[in-house]
Amino acid sequence: MSEPRPVAEPDAITQPFWDATSEGRFTVQRCAACGHHQFYPRALCIACGSTDLGFVEASGRASVYSHTTVRRAPHPAFEPPYVVALVRLEEGPVLMTNLVGIDEPRCDMPVHLVWEDLPDGRKLPLFTGD
Ligand code: ZN
Repeated sequence: MSEPRPVAEPDAITQPFWDATSEGRFTVQRCAACGHHQFYPRALCIACGSTDLGFVEASGRASVYSHTTVRRAPHPAFEPPYVVALVRLEEGPVLMTNLVGIDEPRCDMPVHLVWEDLPDGRKLPLFTGD
């Protein structure tokens, strides 16, 4: 990469998630009121509206929900071709990520978490084939 990839800065709601990535732990929010899991971190539970949310460690196992191969990068940090995907976590939430090390991604294929180290000590959750 010619320059670091742009990554969101932590805020009050996402700080616990990013702190956990620095320790190699992948977390999602769990609602104490209804048990719903969600990603990305939010102020309210998207299932019941409760603000009683905590973070729990996720398994890192997922399946590909959808994917596309980008052949013309929108930013110099990204070297095409690369795969942008929606993966459905074992816990239920769907997150947007990159698939790495998969020549021919397909929907429903099992994938698991791998980390990309960021320059500031955080880690970015990416997924690869089982
Ligand atoms: Zn809830």
